[in-house]
Amino acid sequence: MTDVRGYIAEHRDEFLTDLKEWLAIPSISGDPAHAPDVRASADWLAAHLRRIGFPVVEVWDTGGHPAVFAEWTAADPGAPAVVVYGHHDVQPVEPLGQWDTDPFTPVERGDRLIGRGTSDDKGQVFFHTLGLRAGMAATGATAPPVTIKLLVEGEEESGSVHFADLLRARRDRLDCDMIVISDTTMWSADVPSMCTGMRGLTEAELTLRGPASDLHSGSFGGAVPNPLHAMAAMLAGLHDADGRVTLPGFYDDVVPLTAEERALFAKLPFDEDAWLRTAGESRAAHGEAGYTTLERIWARPTAEVNGLWGGHTGPGGKTIVPSEAHAKLSFRLVAGQDPATVEDQFRAWVAQRTPSGVEAEVRTSGGGVRPCFSPIDAPGVRAARAALEKAFGTEVLFTREGGSGPEADLADILGAPLVFLAVGLPGDRIHAPNEKVEIPLLLKGAEAVALLWEDLGSAPR
Ligand SMILES: [Zn+2]
Repeated sequence: MTDVRGYIAEHRDEFLTDLKEWLAIPSISGDPAHAPDVRASADWLAAHLRRIGFPVVEVWDTGGHPAVFAEWTAADPGAPAVVVYGHHDVQPVEPLGQWDTDPFTPVERGDRLIGRGTSDDKGQVFFHTLGLRAGMAATGATAPPVTIKLLVEGEEESGSVHFADLLRARRDRLDCDMIVISDTTMWSADVPSMCTGMRGLTEAELTLRGPASDLHSGSFGGAVPNPLHAMAAMLAGLHDADGRVTLPGFYDDVVPLTAEERALFAKLPFDEDAWLRTAGESRAAHGEAGYTTLERIWARPTAEVNGLWGGHTGPGGKTIVPSEAHAKLSFRLVAGQDPATVEDQFRAWVAQRTPSGVEAEVRTSGGGVRPCFSPIDAPGVRAARAALEKAFGTEVLFTREGGSGPEADLADILGAPLVFLAVGLPGDRIHAPNEKVEIPLLLKGAEAVALLWEDLGSAPR
């Protein structure tokens, strides 16, 4: 009987041959001309999953591009069920001239596999197929140790527009104890890590109105409210002296960082000067007092003024008291916060601070993006971390990520905890020319999931 690692090494070439065949299908969901390719990609995956033994494989139609669902029930009826989420659609490939190879003719260069979708996300979906087979080969089992429900979406790169509806419609079929997401990155090849959350977002536009029309500043200036002055004063008060956002109740729902999580963040080899260079050559780090740069971008909410305008901005002078002032703002939200609540808090803040004689109008995005979060001491996170540590032979640290996709919908609609298990790297150039994935990391991912399913399946219950 072979062990998990041995099976994976033996099947490496076959795994890559199959993956390349899938990668060659240009499943660009954002381009209507490629709609047949997105369907072909779903059909290819469905056929492959049937071939490797999944007893149930279905292509699920949505209002847009199809998703693939495959279920393999555990031999033990009491074993937990896991939904594994990934996506089979990819980003567009323009500008084509910047690719060194054809984006849909995947090529191996040393340990790298280059092509659109290698890292985001076909490669990461595919390591699950290898890991599942390796785990069963290692134990001689004919069914996995946990029930696997693979859900591979076809619209992630176009905003997952039909995904929440699909989850609601198929809620019964997707019943599970845990959701594993394989669509993120690790810190580096040497420093394996797990993502534990993604920030959410909401946006607002604020308009302040003073006089009904622009006024002559000689005749009226100094005696009526100037909406641009009011706007400047309000926005200057958006943060206090410690860099904290002044919206009433803004931090009330924020899940605080634990001492353990902060200590693990601090272990990451973070070079702030190098990071500042990637931050548009910013000259200094700046933000909420009492938090490190990584804590600020991962675990703390923010308010940003994105744009500000009003009055005369053309050539030459124009001596007016302007009628209107405008600003666009956005709020990055973290674990525990709800976009709709923050929108209400912003309205309350505006009402509180609008001076008399000025009228305020607030427009918000109405919903925004919810943050998602899994505590590092959640049982699934602990188990996945232990499996990754076994596969990599080193300590696994934690990160979080900036942008959020359909993860919050998965957690909320399926009512199960999220576990991020992924092996992409920040340097994989996802969404950009020359996307690549590190083949040894895909194999480590396969090994980790084989170990994880075994561990979850044998846990006492
Ligand atoms: Zn992705």
